[in-house]
Amino acid sequence: MAKFILIGSGLAGGLLAAYLGRRGDDVDLYERRADPREGNIIGGRSINLALSTRGIHALEQLDIADEVLQHAIPMRGRMIHDKSGNLHFAPYDVDPNKHINSIGRAALNTTVIEAARRYPNVRVHFNNRCTDVDLTEATAQLETGNGQTRKDPLIPAQGDAVIGVDGAFSAVRQSMQEKLQKFDYDESYLAHGYKELTIPPGPDGSWRMEKNALHIWPRKSFMMIALPNPDGSFTCTLFWEFEGPRSFASTKTDDDVHRFFDEEFPDAVSLMPALLEDFKNNPTGSLVTIRCAPWYYKDKVTLVGDAAHAVVPFYGQGMNAAFEDCVVLDECLAEFPDNRERAFAEYFARRKENADALADLAIDNFIEMRDKTASKTFRAKKKLDHALEAALPGIYLPLYTMVTFTRIPYAEAAQRARRQDSIIYTGLTLVSAIIVALLIHFIA
Ligand SMILES: Cc1cc2nc3c(=O)[nH]c(=O)nc-3n(C[C@H](O)[C@H](O)[C@H](O)COP(=O)(O)OP(=O)(O)OC[C@H]3O[C@@H](n4cnc5c(N)ncnc54)[C@H](O)[C@@H]3O)c2cc1C
Repeated sequence: MAKFILIGSGLAGGLLAAYLGRRGDDVDLYERRADPREGNIIGGRSINLALSTRGIHALEQLDIADEVLQHAIPMRGRMIHDKSGNLHFAPYDVDPNKHINSIGRAALNTTVIEAARRYPNVRVHFNNRCTDVDLTEATAQLETGNGQTRKDPLIPAQGDAVIGVDGAFSAVRQSMQEKLQKFDYDESYLAHGYKELTIPPGPDGSWRMEKNALHIWPRKSFMMIALPNPDGSFTCTLFWEFEGPRSFASTKTDDDVHRFFDEEFPDAVSLMPALLEDFKNNPTGSLVTIRCAPWYYKDKVTLVGDAAHAVVPFYGQGMNAAFEDCVVLDECLAEFPDNRERAFAEYFARRKENADALADLAIDNFIEMRDKTASKTFRAKKKLDHALEAALPGIYLPLYTMVTFTRIPYAEAAQRARRQDSIIYTGLTLVSAIIVALLIHFIA
């Protein structure tokens, strides 16, 4: 069995440590932050996330899906809020039982770390920040302590391999970038940032909007969404341009904030008593897509989750994809027990095109959510999608269904959706042509 040094105990780090622990590998997991059970966790990340089929499958393999889902709130569709406060509900699937799950990041993170800790061969070390990785020696340099004591000398941690599960701004990936002659790297930022805001629970602890829905206020070039929390609150996220005449940058005074929210989200404002404080105090996050290759170096280093492929959050799939990485890496290690380099290479080959496809899908879905969900045409297309899915079970699957409710690889789902769309388009064109021909025939 091998000794793995894992860097980052975020969502994927904890889960991967549990997978490796189950294999009997020796695992040391180093996290720069303090123990989440001491109350320090989020640090600028979203408070809640949508967990769906791929993520649930990864949790099921370790028998922790039920433990996680008991804290989840099912969301059965999108609740669209127009500017007049009118609501339109669009179910996610033709099958009313299919739903995504709103889940708290902190609770999920704690659960996966606890799952890893059940294996005596897994050790988790908090307040350990990786500053550099020696790729050939599979050694991570670690700065220990909290903010005040970070002057300590660096401590090396050596294993048979180092796995970077340290998120979008990965130090392990940075070492690969600096030290490998051939390492492709691309990062692209959206012009939009995000800010989290809160709708608190009602006086009796109840939800002040429909609980079992993902709420969207689509406003063409920007939008706000809200996901329910178990305590009766909603976490809202405003996705808005950083710069421009109406943007985070141009909204400076309390009046500016009020004016913008009153104009754009009047039905939400009345539910947000702490809007001003939230707006001023909560950070504005950026939205990045990161693509890199290769995700491994010999049998010594590999990358998992956002460290390998950060995507924008509009398909609700970043964590789900990171969890799917853990399943695939575990499968590859099992398939090639005596050849870790081959296992890493296979894992990269199986995941890379899917991660790239997801990155594109996630950007496309931003346009769909912020703009198209408001239109009648979009709602008609969704109804057509669902009608075709019901009429042609197993043959026609809407893209959203394939991505969210199946484990069809992302690249295959995207390709299949393009084929389906072109058949529908050809079919509709043909039907219109026949109607026109018949009309001409009868009129003439
Ligand atoms: C606003 C927003 C909403 C989102 N919503 C969803 C959603 O609904 N559904 C979904 O599936 N995904 C969603 N995502 C994406 C999801 O958050 C990420 O894909 C997921 O967190 C990736 O997990 P990870 O473990 O790879 O990285 P992370 O969760 O970022 O964990 C990385 C860990 O590494 C640690 N670390 C970093 N650097 C070092 C270092 N040098 N040394 C030691 N430790 C280090 C960090 O402290 C952190 O704990 C969303 C993202 C955002 C920004």
